Amino acid sequence: MLIKDREPSQELLMLRGLKPRLHFTNEEKNYLDHKEKGFEGELAFDKLTEPLREKMAFLNDVTLKQNNNEYQIDSMAIASNKLHTFEVKNFEGDYIVKDNKWFSPSNIIVKNPLLQVQRTDTLLTQLLREKGFRHTVESHLIFINPEFNLYNIPSGLPIVYPAQLNRFIEKLNNEPVKITPSDMKLAQTLLSLHINDSTYSNLPHYDYQTLQKGIACPACLKFYSPPKYTSFHCESCQLQEGTEQAVLRSMKDFQLLFPSEKLTTNRLFDWCGVFKDKRTIRKVLKSNCQQQGHGVSSYFFR
Ligand SMILES: [Zn+2]
Repeated sequence: MLIKDREPSQELLMLRGLKPRLHFTNEEKNYLDHKEKGFEGELAFDKLTEPLREKMAFLNDVTLKQNNNEYQIDSMAIASNKLHTFEVKNFEGDYIVKDNKWFSPSNIIVKNPLLQVQRTDTLLTQLLREKGFRHTVESHLIFINPEFNLYNIPSGLPIVYPAQLNRFIEKLNNEPVKITPSDMKLAQTLLSLHINDSTYSNLPHYDYQTLQKGIACPACLKFYSPPKYTSFHCESCQLQEGTEQAVLRSMKDFQLLFPSEKLTTNRLFDWCGVFKDKRTIRKVLKSNCQQQGHGVSSYFFR
């Protein structure tokens, strides 16, 4: 059973919205790539665990907070009074462990993911006991990328390597477990404790004036030229997109990046930057949003 599905985080959506409109530093580019890669790995894991959903209650991407400790769990599966946690890493290349420190293929120290797994395990066990659940917690560190290798690590750690992944899933699938009422109660409790907007401080600084205006192609992120009839045609990658859909996409980005700004015809016209007059904008707003007020002071929401 799928209790909570995975969606791109608010931060990832904001970074995606900013990318075509702002000049990213190399560091910011790397950060976005890292986030995209992580998300891709998690989606790949969701696909692999789909068959387990019949006998286990799954919660994907849950953020919890206890005594000021915020922690995020990529995936959890609950059945027969046991809770499995999965930390999914999409690391690629040859990693090596020296004196408990993890080094990437470019010889840069990365955060030891085992420490993260241990911390989550401890906090989650505490939370379960506080809420009166007797479930045991079993944590797993999953390496999803087939191009990943780890050297010099002792055995007996809760690590699942890419080559073991199919067997690991199969083993879980063969366990004679089922979702009990107590499992469902725990799943609902965890869902209710999930924090939707967790803190993120890694967004680049931006303001409305300096962001580039226009509608960027969703495939190649190049800005569109004015539409022909009712669709845009990307000159760079040849993608076709309906004007209404493109405007709605840009509108979503605007609302995500400027949540406290009012959505007006003039504002969206300026933000989209590619139309000769306001007719299309007005039409899209009228048919997709609710209008508040009339005339120049009116604004829209949905
Ligand atoms: Zn394109």
